Amino acid sequence: MKSLNQYWQQRDLQHVWHPCTQMKDHEANIPLIPIQRGKGVWLYDFEGKAYLDAISSWWVNLFGHAHPYIQSRIQSQLSELEHVLLAGFTHRPVIELSEQLVRITPKGLEKCFYTDNGSSAVEAAIKMSFHFWKNHHQPQKKKFVCLSNSYHGETLGALSVGNVSLYKETYGPLLFEVITAPSPDAFLAPKDVDIITYTRQQFEKIKILLEKDADCIAAVIIEPLVQCAGNMRMYHPLYLTLLRECTEKLGIHFIADEIAVGFGRTGTLFACEQAGIVPDFLCLSKGLTGGFLPLAVVMTTSTIYQAFYDDYHTQRAFLHSHSYTGNPLACSAALATIELFEKNAVIKNNQAHIQYMKTHTEKWRNYPYVADVRQTGMILAVELMAEPHSQTPFAWQRRVGLQMYREGLQRGILLRPLGDVIYLMPPYVISETELSFLIDQVDQCLQQVALNIQSECA
Ligand code: PMP
Repeated sequence: MKSLNQYWQQRDLQHVWHPCTQMKDHEANIPLIPIQRGKGVWLYDFEGKAYLDAISSWWVNLFGHAHPYIQSRIQSQLSELEHVLLAGFTHRPVIELSEQLVRITPKGLEKCFYTDNGSSAVEAAIKMSFHFWKNHHQPQKKKFVCLSNSYHGETLGALSVGNVSLYKETYGPLLFEVITAPSPDAFLAPKDVDIITYTRQQFEKIKILLEKDADCIAAVIIEPLVQCAGNMRMYHPLYLTLLRECTEKLGIHFIADEIAVGFGRTGTLFACEQAGIVPDFLCLSKGLTGGFLPLAVVMTTSTIYQAFYDDYHTQRAFLHSHSYTGNPLACSAALATIELFEKNAVIKNNQAHIQYMKTHTEKWRNYPYVADVRQTGMILAVELMAEPHSQTPFAWQRRVGLQMYREGLQRGILLRPLGDVIYLMPPYVISETELSFLIDQVDQCLQQVALNIQSECA
């Protein structure tokens, strides 16, 4: 007799091909978890087992699952209009959302171009930057600069400007070349160099690359403050301030990819605020709709916009489109999300969570195999390594992160480690009791996995 979970698992494996997954793992090794419903920070399978969603379902969920206010806003929009193309037509949610986004993002970003996922927002920003220079009679400005260990999505353009080999290497022959500068990753800073000096040193390296090729470079693309998919590596905001100054001086665009870090993840509403910068392009997605519906946006300045604005016959327009651009339901979810931020003083109230996570995870620094515990706002990461002192990673074949994932599931928490980096990125509605439960369970997982490793080594 099959259990309800098994029933859905087996039906799924007949036809569903899951993202970022070796499907064979699901046949024996790693059971697929069918989820029936969600409420707040909890996900429930078909047999009622609860999992605390410690990673906000790939960082999208801000206010918990099935949030009644976001639901109601989508429902009332649904009874009026589900979708209309955004070329030649418009609608209230997209107009209102654009007004709100301009209001809440760093001053100077005045135009909103919508896509329906993060990668396609990055694609649009890259194309816009190149096209801007072309419209300004500088078609040779077509190179892009990115950081080592950066991640900007999986479509070919976004993958080209990323640098995580796990995702990129296989498709290398299909990608365009980029200039890659060493990242200012604080974890890699020599122990005897203070963070400010190190940040300046790393900045000098990218500055040399930018100065050398400024005539050919369209833009630098960067994830402000945290390289999330690149194992939650973090860096000092000074790097962004220096880089922004430099790009402005050299006539190079600055693309801030806040797809993962936007909407409060780093402690401020947008990470760029901590560096006091305004980028030429700001890419947003994930938390934009509170995790309800797919939507992304590229925000840019009037200066960029004006380079495309002309009589039709000059052929300067940005002829890029996606069928679901600016979907009214998704825009309504985004409007509800922005309202919740303000109604509930979320940024201010998150300070208590940030402090709680900091205080209660400090002791993990002394646990075996813990090479680093780092935190930027609502993102807390623990890096496990075979030899923390020399920063020697575990052989990837050991899949230590996977052991943590399994231990977590047994204890009712959903972690999805990046390699051997475990991180907490919970929905903001998490209560102190839930946060305490989560941290206790991770604590037990860390101890159990350390025991497993020790017994494997014995
Ligand atoms: N940029 C960053 C910084 C991301 O973290 C992600 C997704 N993890 C993307 C772009 C791509 O977004 P999507 O998965 O919606 O295509």
